[in-house]
Amino acid sequence: MIHTAQLPIPLALVVFIFGACVGSFLNVVIYRLPEKKSIVFPGSHCPVCNHTIPFYLNIPVLSYLLIKGRCRFCKTPISARYPVIECLTGGLAVLLLHRFGIGLPLLFWFVFGCALIVVTFIDIDHQIIPDIISIPGIFIFASSGFFIPEMTLASSLYGVLTGGGVLYAVALGYYLLRGQQGMGGGDIKLLAMIGAATGVKGVLFTMFAGSLAGTCGGVATMIFGKNRGTKVKIPFGPYLSAGAMVYVLWGNELIYWYFSILSR
Ligand SMILES: [Zn+2]
Repeated sequence: MIHTAQLPIPLALVVFIFGACVGSFLNVVIYRLPEKKSIVFPGSHCPVCNHTIPFYLNIPVLSYLLIKGRCRFCKTPISARYPVIECLTGGLAVLLLHRFGIGLPLLFWFVFGCALIVVTFIDIDHQIIPDIISIPGIFIFASSGFFIPEMTLASSLYGVLTGGGVLYAVALGYYLLRGQQGMGGGDIKLLAMIGAATGVKGVLFTMFAGSLAGTCGGVATMIFGKNRGTKVKIPFGPYLSAGAMVYVLWGNELIYWYFSILSR
């Protein structure tokens, strides 16, 4: 097993390129899934002039730089988000490789991370977390015990119950008391999926870290955002997704650090 300190650069590069290619597929999923379009056909094309993008211009990140961020045919600027998501996915693959080495946990957490990247950007665009990812995700990631040494089917089940059940109760209580919806149903299903993959400890960490980051983000939007002062709906999915990935990568160290400060 390749371990943390000696991650060979050529290997990291290959894994980054592989991740970026997956990221370019995630771009398609993020763009087409909410519109209920096929994610396989047609091939990549410019949303304005409909010109298909030739395969030699489908190299992640590089082709974006090559065409200087504009469609080669109609010169419409192409969102910088495409290469950003490619780099993000490539970077995640390298971080996971660095953390886990080559093996089943790397595979499992990479697929999990990809699902979270899709959820994050669809939530940012449409303020929804698609059921078609979170619900099958609960079942798929409940296989955690087969890939991750410290997980079992039982710990996945407890994770689902914590993420789904407890939050459902909180949301219901909030609704009964305040007569308004606090956390959306999509967030609850997402937390159930995160619980399936990471267990009770992971889902509690995710809620804690996600709420902390979400509150900071919410306050920042209220102060600096375009609609400052008004109550804007902040998508919670990105914060929960980020919280879950931080747990996967550095959760145990952070929990240890947190409790060592408390017990001083
Ligand atoms: Zn075009």
